Amino acid sequence: MSDCIFCKIISGEIPSKKVYEDDRVLAFHDINPTAPVHILVIPKEHITSLAEVKDEQLELIGYVHGVIRNIAKDLGLVNGFRVVNNCGLDGGQEVKHLHFHLLGGKKLTWPAG
Ligand code: 5GP
Ligand code: ZN
Repeated sequence: MSDCIFCKIISGEIPSKKVYEDDRVLAFHDINPTAPVHILVIPKEHITSLAEVKDEQLELIGYVHGVIRNIAKDLGLVNGFRVVNNCGLDGGQEVKHLHFHLLGGKKLTWPAG
């Protein structure tokens, strides 16, 4: 997707502070962190949102969560963490490339909304 900022981050056209990368997934620091740890984990394949995920892409979604688990462990988030997916208008999704926020490093407040 040529007009997608996260696809541009994947291609390197837009720089990012990378945390993890393999052939399927990229993780990088959020440009506007809302917690001491705020990382975005995205599939390299352009998927618009969780609502658009096809059945044949569900294994990839599971794989992304395995990456999130590994990053949380590597960063020492032993007290826990939060994974957030904002989906669509009501969900407050701003970037239309599926991404999961990994938040941690403090006691997070709840509920959102
Ligand atoms: P959303 O609201 O769509 O769930 O989250 C989008 C996130 O992407 C926001 O937390 C925002 O700070 C982050 N973001 C937007 N543009 C960029 C960028 O160019 N680089 C990085 N690293 N993060 C970005
Ligand atoms: Zn994209």
